Amino acid sequence: MKRIDGKEIAAQIRAEVKEDAEKFFAENGIKVGLAVVLVGDDPASAVYVRNKIKACEEVGFLSSAYRLPADATQDEVESLVVQLAEDERIHGILVQLPLPGHLDAERILALIPTEKDVDGFSAENLGRLACGKEGTVACTPLGVMELLARSGAEIAGKRAVVIGRSNIVGKPMAMLLLNANATVTVCHSKTKDLASICAQADILVAAIGRAKFVTADMVKEGAAVIDVGINRVDGKLVGDVDYDAVAPKTSMITPVPGGVGPMTIAMLLKNTLSCAQRSLR
Ligand code: NAD
Repeated sequence: MKRIDGKEIAAQIRAEVKEDAEKFFAENGIKVGLAVVLVGDDPASAVYVRNKIKACEEVGFLSSAYRLPADATQDEVESLVVQLAEDERIHGILVQLPLPGHLDAERILALIPTEKDVDGFSAENLGRLACGKEGTVACTPLGVMELLARSGAEIAGKRAVVIGRSNIVGKPMAMLLLNANATVTVCHSKTKDLASICAQADILVAAIGRAKFVTADMVKEGAAVIDVGINRVDGKLVGDVDYDAVAPKTSMITPVPGGVGPMTIAMLLKNTLSCAQRSLR
């Protein structure tokens, strides 16, 4: 069994992005730019935004947080996003979610131009993924593909099962695996015989949000198991997979923490660089 080290792989990706961003600057005289919009003072969101800005600085991006108060109006947030959309120094725009309840998040996100949608959440980018066209893919599922590729997992022709069908994890995950020629099944809260479907998977991705949901009897001997879940139990972070019981059956598995989690920011950096590179084409 191989324990996939997400921290180490994320560090490799950050180093690659740094090198490519330096090359991009040397060739074009342009710094890669990311704008992060934070509305309100949710402490968890503030930490996420700080970490994103810090990661950008470490790879030499030009990055700024744009903070608005919790009572900012729809118009104020929309005007800020429009201003960032028009700013050519900015290649990626990220609106930190969740937004305060009085705001219409969908309308705000729709103002981010597809080519600056570094989160890959837009319908246009999800559609591009569905059609196998170039675009930006949501950071977390893209990070899972990197973990699999850099751990030597074979994907083509394998049976992959994704548990979870959200637009930001489960669905793009399934489409990425399908585009990589796996035979993909998506399970969700209404799936019948979930355990027996999971037990057929060569690659099992859990993106549910329920602590230790995936138990050893649901996992095929030799499977690659990727745990996207983040759950807090008695102050401790645990995944959707019962790691201790499942790990001995697998060929490779991600821990929580230290598996998929660190990949998300690394892929955000990679997506921002790709947006900057595409902006010159
Ligand atoms: P979500 O709540 O939007 O979706 C959860 C999915 O799980 C749904 O599609 C639902 O159908 C399915 N589900 C719920 N109960 C189920 C059950 N009993 N059986 C089968 N399926 C069931 O969540 P999300 O945004 O997709 O995130 C999923 C998990 O991944 C969460 O724990 C979240 O915190 C974590 N997450 C981690 C990262 C990261 O960086 N590691 C990023 C995003 C999300």
